[in-house]
Amino acid sequence: MKIKTLLTAATAAIAFASVAYADGLVGIAMPTKSSARWIADGDNMVKELQAAGYDTDLQYAEDDIPNQLSQIENMVTKGVDVLVIAAIDGTTLSNALENAAAAGVKVIAYDRLIRDSGDVDYYATFDNFKVGVQQATSLVDGLKSRFGEGPYNVELFGGSPDDNNAYFFYNGAMSVLQPLIDDGSVVVQSGQMGMDKVGTLRWDGAVAQARMDNILSANYTDKEVHGVLSPYDGLSIGILSSLKGVGYGSGDLKMPIVSGQDAEVPSIKSILAGEQYSTIFKDTRELAKVTVGMVNAVLEGSEPEINDDSTYDNGVKVVPSYLLEPVAVDASNWEEILIGSGYYTADQIN
Ligand code: BGC
Repeated sequence: MKIKTLLTAATAAIAFASVAYADGLVGIAMPTKSSARWIADGDNMVKELQAAGYDTDLQYAEDDIPNQLSQIENMVTKGVDVLVIAAIDGTTLSNALENAAAAGVKVIAYDRLIRDSGDVDYYATFDNFKVGVQQATSLVDGLKSRFGEGPYNVELFGGSPDDNNAYFFYNGAMSVLQPLIDDGSVVVQSGQMGMDKVGTLRWDGAVAQARMDNILSANYTDKEVHGVLSPYDGLSIGILSSLKGVGYGSGDLKMPIVSGQDAEVPSIKSILAGEQYSTIFKDTRELAKVTVGMVNAVLEGSEPEINDDSTYDNGVKVVPSYLLEPVAVDASNWEEILIGSGYYTADQIN
C-alpha cells in the first residue's frame, strides 16, 4: 500500500516533469568571443534553453575552423540531441553533420547558413538582405545630410567570404548603391567592387583598417572620401581609425559616413561621439527565442514556425528558415531602440 502510493506519486512527478520541463542536451557552437554580439548570443541561448529545462554545452572556437569542427564532433560523441551552430566557415561542416545525422542529432543553423550539407534541419536568422539594404539606405541618407548634393566618393567593404551572410549583406547594400553608381551620383574611386575584391576574411577589423589605409593613400591624396559601406561594427572601428589617422573628422575634413552592424557598445559610443554614423541592431534575445522554439519542435517531432521556405538554398537543399527583422540605429533613435528595449542599460553606454 505504502509502496503503491509512493510509486503513484513518483509516476505523477515524472509525468509532471515531462510537461513542465523538456528533456535533452543541446550543443551550442559559437564562432568567437572577440565580438560582443556572439557572447550575447551564447548567453541568451543558454538562458532560454535552461529555462525550458534543457542541459546545454556552449563552446566558442575563437574563429579557428578545426577547433569548431572538433567541438562539434565532441558534442555528438557526448550525445547531444540537437546542435545549434553559428559556423565560422559555412562550408566545412558537411562530414561532421553527416555523422551527427547518423546519430539522430538534429541541426539548427544559427544566424549563419551552413552550406553544402543536406543535414541542416532549420535556419534561424535575420533578414540578411534587408540588413544590407538598411546599411546602404542609412549611408545614402547620411551622405545627403552631411555633404549636400553629390556626387559622393564611397568605398565598399564586405564581410568574410566564407560566411554566407556576407553575400546577402553586400547584395542588399548594392541593390541600393548600384543604381547610384550607374547614374554617377556615387563614385567608387578605388574601382574595388564585388565580394572577391571587398571581402574581409574572418570579419577582421585590422584587415579592414589596413585596406582602408591603402585605399586612402592610393586614391585620396587629392580627393575626399565621403562615405564607407561597412558591414560590421568591428570593421567600422578599424575603418574609422584609418580615416582619423589621415585627419578626417578634424579641421575642415569632415568625417565620412560609415555604416555598421550589431549595435556593439564601442560603436554606439562612436555614434554618440559623431564618428560612426549608424549600425544595425539585431536583437539576439529574439533570435534565441526563435531557436529554442525550433529545438522544442524538433525534439517533439513537430514542425517549428518558419516564415521563409525559398531564400536560403545551401547548395544541397533550401533550408526552412525563420527571419527576424533588423533595425537601423543612428544618433536619432539609439536610446529608444537600445535602452528602451532593455537591450543595454544607460550605464553601459554613458
Ligand atoms: C553576423 C553579423 C556579424 C558578423 C561578424 C555575421 O554572420 O550575421 O551580425 O556582424 O557575422 O561577426
